[in-house]
Amino acid sequence: MTGRHDFFAAPNLFRPDVSVELARRVALQQYGVDGRVRELGSQQERTFDVQASSGRYVLKVANPAFSDDEVAAQDAALAHLATHAPAVVTPRSVPALDGGSVARFDGPDGPLRARLLTFVPGFPLAQQDFLAPVVVERLGRLAGSVTAALADLDVPGLDRVLQWDVRNARRVCELLAPHLTEAGRRDTVLRAVAAACDRLDRLGPELRIQPVHGDVTDDNVVCTRDMDGRPEPSGVVDFGDIGLSWVVGDLAATCASVLHHEPDRPLAVAAAVRGYAQQVPLSEAEVAALWPAVIARAAVLVVSGVHQGVIDPGNDYAASAQEREWQMLVSAAAMPADVVTAALREALGMVRRVIGLGLTRPLLPDLLSGDVTVVDLSATTDVVGDGRWLQPDIEDVVMAARLPAVARYGEARLTRTALDGRAAPATVALGVEVACDPGTALHAPFRGRLEHTTDGCVLVGPDADLWLTGVQPIDARDVTAGERIGATAGRVGFARVTAQLCTVRGLRPPTFVRPDEAQVWQVVCPDPTALLGLPDDLHVDDVTPQDVLALRSAALAEVQEHYYDTPPRIERGWRHHLVDTGARTYLDAVNNVAGVGHSHPTVTRAVRRQWELLNTNSRFNYASIAEFSARLAALLPDPLDTVFLVNSGSEAVDLALRLAQSFTARQDVFCIAEGYHGWTMASDAVSTSVADNPQALTTRPSWVHPLAAPNPLRGRHRGPDAGPHYIADAIAAIGAGPAPAAFLCEAFYGNAGGIPLPEGYLTAVYAAVRDRGGLCIADEVQVGYGRLGSSFWGFQQQAVVPDVVTVAKAMGNGHPLGAVITRRDVAEAFARNGYFFSSAGGSPVSCAVGMAVLDVLEGERLQDNAARIGAHLRRRFERLAEEVPMIGAVHGLGLYMGVELVRDRETFEPATRETAAICERLLQLGVVLQPTGDRLNVLKIKPPLCMTLESADFFVDRVAEVLTRGW
Ligand code: PMP
Repeated sequence: MTGRHDFFAAPNLFRPDVSVELARRVALQQYGVDGRVRELGSQQERTFDVQASSGRYVLKVANPAFSDDEVAAQDAALAHLATHAPAVVTPRSVPALDGGSVARFDGPDGPLRARLLTFVPGFPLAQQDFLAPVVVERLGRLAGSVTAALADLDVPGLDRVLQWDVRNARRVCELLAPHLTEAGRRDTVLRAVAAACDRLDRLGPELRIQPVHGDVTDDNVVCTRDMDGRPEPSGVVDFGDIGLSWVVGDLAATCASVLHHEPDRPLAVAAAVRGYAQQVPLSEAEVAALWPAVIARAAVLVVSGVHQGVIDPGNDYAASAQEREWQMLVSAAAMPADVVTAALREALGMVRRVIGLGLTRPLLPDLLSGDVTVVDLSATTDVVGDGRWLQPDIEDVVMAARLPAVARYGEARLTRTALDGRAAPATVALGVEVACDPGTALHAPFRGRLEHTTDGCVLVGPDADLWLTGVQPIDARDVTAGERIGATAGRVGFARVTAQLCTVRGLRPPTFVRPDEAQVWQVVCPDPTALLGLPDDLHVDDVTPQDVLALRSAALAEVQEHYYDTPPRIERGWRHHLVDTGARTYLDAVNNVAGVGHSHPTVTRAVRRQWELLNTNSRFNYASIAEFSARLAALLPDPLDTVFLVNSGSEAVDLALRLAQSFTARQDVFCIAEGYHGWTMASDAVSTSVADNPQALTTRPSWVHPLAAPNPLRGRHRGPDAGPHYIADAIAAIGAGPAPAAFLCEAFYGNAGGIPLPEGYLTAVYAAVRDRGGLCIADEVQVGYGRLGSSFWGFQQQAVVPDVVTVAKAMGNGHPLGAVITRRDVAEAFARNGYFFSSAGGSPVSCAVGMAVLDVLEGERLQDNAARIGAHLRRRFERLAEEVPMIGAVHGLGLYMGVELVRDRETFEPATRETAAICERLLQLGVVLQPTGDRLNVLKIKPPLCMTLESADFFVDRVAEVLTRGW
């Protein structure tokens, strides 16, 4: 066939009728390829997967509506890309036995043409549910590489009239929309496409036209996996839509395919645009045309999918895509083009457009003379402490108490946040709010037309619309600047007026938006504060997380690492939640230090009171040091009755080692590999975790003797019967080594990810150590203080009593507080070294904190809560492990758990890079969690002990989501 396809001349493109058997015969007879044939999905062609001993292929049977030139152009494009974009993996045309590339054969309805192509290995991007920004950017870059390489392709068959060409979108939709039987959907499509095409028509003359693939979508992009386990788009298939079109139309096809992966975050496409623009720089007009083109593309997909279902009812492939395509359109149409354009301009580093309103009159002139209070509703506010920000009416309460009051534009309000939210909540105010007396007069800040809305009015001015709520407007009409337009209306004893500007005419902007979208919304919703006669900079704290990180890097030693590649700025905590400066809350699954929860009012008050009274050193005689020490000692079994108070776990371990060395007059210490005990000289010496110090195992001083890590999954001995072997090895090592001063370990193997010690391990090892005259030290810094649920101390799990116990972390709930508890004779032997004195150790404030923490632990029965929530978490993770092969093991007890992630359950290869990437994704979903263990492949679960059942479910749901939908 010659000529070119014109969709409007022949819009009904059925897939040609070709059976699997016929396809098999064509492959064999015309290409000499004898293989197993299976049909793949296609809208308007037939494609078959051919698996032969010589390799894997795709047989594509062209729709007879396409000319020979159009079919040949596909092969030409593949050959062109092979030389001009060799990094992009594409299929290769396989020559037919007659030397050509096209096989001609007869189908049941007439002559047909087929091509055999090599199969591009990998998986389609569409298979991955969640696409990380880095993946979306790579997709854009790949699409851009193809477009850049095709720019100079010059062959016949490219000038076609395709329904997929965005230039034809309006006509296609008008032609096919009647097939949409649901009137609501039909109207939505037609309205969306009309508005989009009006914009495209205006920009059309400035839009570049060249040969484009036109369909570099998640369906046609083939991926490998990168080191982090994320898709790496590497190949492009299906050149059936190749032709001349707008470059921006080509990019729109790629962007639209991203939308259904995360329909509530349409701005995620900005990453694709950034990637594309790296290969194909975009003009101002192209950036402005992109979103209308995406809407047009989505509309065409919707009507075409429905149309295909009508003319080709057996086409399951087309039918299955319909809901997805609808979602794309809804997602695209939900976002005003001007807002997306602003977002794209930011993403591409283009100059920001600032809209000025010129001179205006005050909106509330009577307020000018008054003393307006700026109410701080940000994440760092001190007006809604002790969790009062969670009270639904708190904004009213706070503002009513400070009349007249103003809440700031651009502020991320703590009062708008939600706990355990999967998505960041809309916290950032796009308007300014004023609380004042009802009946206060409002005047037009500029001339315009006043119209009523359901909840107030809008003043349609020359440069922007001013949306007002909480007002009683005058009748709708044209008004002049300064004219009275109404009065404030109060329902709650005072009036709350919201004033919001928007430069997109007719668009009622949201009052609050998510922090990640705030910057671009602010471009179309400028700051209205000046209309109130107030200075337009009311000092919203705009120090970004990046600013903080930069200052931190400049001022702080780099070895003091931080969590996450791009960490949020966390400035608040409440119970088992953390809050960033965008007022987004995160479930805190890492903070074992805040054992009783963040900002606990009992602890806060105790500290405040004590600071106001006295803080001094432990050489003075004050009650709290005596009471707290007695209370601490009472928590331990006999004969552990003597307390030292210090400031940290490292200090406690250091002191414990020195006590043992003094008592025994020996040096040598046994510990366990993979442990961490602190940073001071001595506590670091017994720390052998290579995750904390890669040189740990080769740089131990000669007095340190690490025993093998008794890890039945990865250690020297494996499986359920490994325990006795580890015990035997440990006893042998202790027997063969020097007479020890001490043996020190965590009584529940914390640092390695919450793995319990083998049954009977401590009984046997303690006996062996004591036989040789050494002391046994239990490091309870992480696992003690109720965290394990079924016991207050870790050593109780093994039914032993140590000679020395170290405690810190949860003991002070984050306040620097540590302790060593031992026998009196051991403590007294330390006198050989002189005094023991720690300036701040056991200070009045520290002791007040320590007692408040114990009060809360006991009063709120948090150990029981750890047992209950821990058991629930364990059950849920074990059930999840049945569905997710990546979960290699679930360790731990109470609220000290480890979920070990592996690449392969047989080899147990640790999924180290993936675990880090998974934690990054979890952060976006509202969960703070970190990897641990020597291979950094264990999700370390150690939340504050006050975690609720609802939060526990939220937590597992999010981990499940990431493990099943991708990261
Ligand atoms: N021992 C153990 C078991 C620990 O986990 C830690 C801290 N991670 C320490 C001691 C040291 O405590 P600190 O950081 O308070 O010095």
